[in-house]
Amino acid sequence: MFDWLAPDLSGESIFKLPYATLWKNGVRGLLFDIDNTLAPFDIPAPDDDTARFLSDLSQSGFSVCLISNGSKRRVNAFNAYLKFPVVYRAFKPLKRGVLKAMKIIGTTPETTALVGDQLFTDVLCGKRCGVFTALLKPASKRDEFSVRIKRGVERRFLKYFAKAGKLVDKL
Ligand SMILES: [Mg+2]
Repeated sequence: MFDWLAPDLSGESIFKLPYATLWKNGVRGLLFDIDNTLAPFDIPAPDDDTARFLSDLSQSGFSVCLISNGSKRRVNAFNAYLKFPVVYRAFKPLKRGVLKAMKIIGTTPETTALVGDQLFTDVLCGKRCGVFTALLKPASKRDEFSVRIKRGVERRFLKYFAKAGKLVDKL
């Protein structure tokens, strides 16, 4: 049940995902959500470890794109030193942001993974677009008000997925 919402993969943080396995499975494009995926939503820039890690991923051959529902200002400030392709105001779970991101980095749903912290925004969007989806534990316990409302429902689904054995590494 609810397979349309079950993430393909779940993990503690961006540092813990099995990128080598993703690569082996044909993934070449990594779309990262920003708020509470790469940094707490109220922190304007990535920390050094995150910045270095993303640049290592890019150096190792992945095409990295940041995709956020946040404003142009927020996204560009966050990306000031990273200088990755970005899609801001992506309106996830609508498909258009992810479609745009894939167009920018030249990947297809079969070769793209979306990494985010929200079930009804990131994962739902990724599933609708047919890309590989990875759900991470939020980088911070703090959430914007609009997100806080969704977390309660999200928790119930995650509990269900965990119980149904759907929150394991399926690769
Ligand atoms: Mg987020």
